[in-house]
Amino acid sequence: MIRNCVIIGGSHAGSQFAISLRQGGWLGNITIIGEERDYPYHRPPLSKTFLSGEKKIEDILLRPAELYEKSRISIRLGERVKSIDRANKSVITNNNNNIINYDKLVIATGARVRKIPVPGSETEGVYYLRNSDDVNKIKSRVIANDHAVIIGGGYIGLETAASLRKQGMKVTVIEAMARVLQRVTAPELSNFYKRIHDEEGVEIFEEVIATEFKKIDKKIHILTSCGKTFIGDMVIVGIGVIPNIELAESAGLAVKNGVEVNQFCQTSDPEIYAIGDVSWHYNEIYERFLRLESVPNATEQAKIAALHINEKPKAYNSLPWFWSDQYDLKLQIAGLSEGYNHIVIRGDIEKGRSFSAFYFKDNNLLAVDAVNSPREFMFTKMVLTKGQKLNKEILSNNSLDLKSAIMNQ
Ligand code: FAD
Repeated sequence: MIRNCVIIGGSHAGSQFAISLRQGGWLGNITIIGEERDYPYHRPPLSKTFLSGEKKIEDILLRPAELYEKSRISIRLGERVKSIDRANKSVITNNNNNIINYDKLVIATGARVRKIPVPGSETEGVYYLRNSDDVNKIKSRVIANDHAVIIGGGYIGLETAASLRKQGMKVTVIEAMARVLQRVTAPELSNFYKRIHDEEGVEIFEEVIATEFKKIDKKIHILTSCGKTFIGDMVIVGIGVIPNIELAESAGLAVKNGVEVNQFCQTSDPEIYAIGDVSWHYNEIYERFLRLESVPNATEQAKIAALHINEKPKAYNSLPWFWSDQYDLKLQIAGLSEGYNHIVIRGDIEKGRSFSAFYFKDNNLLAVDAVNSPREFMFTKMVLTKGQKLNKEILSNNSLDLKSAIMNQ
């Protein structure tokens, strides 16, 4: 009997899983059902080189389209799964209520943008940024010297600001919290990025909440909590994402802030797996459950789930890492800084564009934010994986060799 593996969602996690499953020896059918119309593509360039026009969709495909055919992976684009019927082991799609049977099912539905709950949020010219369609709409409105107002000073908002600025737009960022990147980095990093955007000509307003959008004479008026009205030719909202857990939830699977999985990415139903941005999983290194929004995590979990289905189990045990590109800055983050109580800076954060911020909880290293410092990033990945301790004095002295900061235990 030929077995069927069905994957819901065709992006980083879904595409990697399909390839890894086939490469690992699965002989049965593999079907990806993805609601987007493009072949799976790299999502990070959407706010970077795809938005800036340097790359087209063909340049950012995860894999050539022919590879799916060659690997005997059937890929159904533009089709959405409406529900999972666990009793009959099938999924039902929006395409004439197609029923597709599975032996193994993988939920790789990722996340969707959080909508801004203010009057006028549906105004024409207010955009979000999650998929290629979103960016194509934004790109059609990019005109030098026009004014873009970005709501949200997280990574997506700031990357978008940089890309639009590069194309000659006037850019204003409005952030509700006291500082940009507040949710993810230390004040030192927020100040650094604020300085850089200032140098590049982006205006940033902090502790300002957008309360209403109004279209007046082709312009969008953004009313705010501080009484100031900003006027833009377009608005881009980047205020976070929500995991697409509804299919799993209505199928009765255990969900929290994501679909709950074990160390093999199996959900509460052992025939169903959940991977990538949608998964709520335990991290051994940080000893807590997490939901990560990162490509490395989506790729790693895809491989873990494929190994398990191919009966070569390997437990998930990965160090989270991320990156963000803005202007000439490559930020690489290893680990999670949440809960830190001490930060060590190596390099010139005040005036320069290359430094590393090491986050500690007491004497334990938690994470690094490395800006244009790939060596420090690689070093920290190694130290965190090995659980080594570092001498903070040596670390903070840029003229001393990084490796000499490792303490003998
Ligand atoms: P997603 O990429 O969200 O894909 C899920 C797919 O499932 C989507 O195509 C969705 O349409 C589809 N889907 C959902 N529900 C259904 C359904 N019912 N039926 C069929 N299909 C469905 N990460 C980094 O590490 N570094 C970066 O620099 C970075 N930059 C980013 C920039 C932007 C603009 C964005 C939006 C994200 C960025 N990320 C970055 C995050 C990264 O892209 C995600 O972590 C990654 O895409 C997660 O992959 P995924 O496959 O789990 O989910």
